[in-house]
Amino acid sequence: MTEPAPTTVPVGESLKARNDRQARANRDAFRARGLVVLNLLSSPGSGKTALLERTLSEYGRRRRVGVVVGDLQTDNDARRLAGRGGPVVPVTTGTVCHLKADMVARAVAGLDLAALDVLVIENVGNLVCPASFDLGEDTRVVLLSTTEGEDKPLKYPRAFKTAHAVVLTKTDLAGPAGFDRAAALANVRAVNPDATVLELSARTGEGLGEWYAYLDGLVARRAG
Ligand code: MG
Repeated sequence: MTEPAPTTVPVGESLKARNDRQARANRDAFRARGLVVLNLLSSPGSGKTALLERTLSEYGRRRRVGVVVGDLQTDNDARRLAGRGGPVVPVTTGTVCHLKADMVARAVAGLDLAALDVLVIENVGNLVCPASFDLGEDTRVVLLSTTEGEDKPLKYPRAFKTAHAVVLTKTDLAGPAGFDRAAALANVRAVNPDATVLELSARTGEGLGEWYAYLDGLVARRAG
């Protein structure tokens, strides 16, 4: 069994083909260990890190959770997530607006993947470039906060179309933000009728039980 190490590059291979090949290698290595791997996508400030703070502290008591955190600059998010019981690996992408499969391979090279049940990859915050790059995850999750426009799914269809789950975050702010929940859900459904939809607030804890149950379902399916 081999680690998902960076693979060698045939001359002339396109960036996309290279990424897809590395993503397949990552996926094979993750599956060989029975690891559930999530790729979290959202606009900046939609609450990816806030959700992961509580997931590590709370769900991390039930399952072994590790995190890879991508950002253009700073390891601020990784520092927010550190000390909560699971390994956290920061990846700064510099000018690259998304994580790539080889970045993830390097990030997890120092982790004992067999000692984890769930690996969550927090992608760079935007809904454009991350949508086009497979990292080897088996579950893609897109966050949409109540403080964003309800039409985000229509404006960024690729991210929402490729998602297995859409998580409406900051439900505690829906009222003050004048969030039109029905319109948002209709827009999600218009782009992706099959996605699991969850609603939660990482601040109040509302809906987190359903999020953890969703993760449990992924773990059970992988184990079965
Ligand atoms: Mg973040």
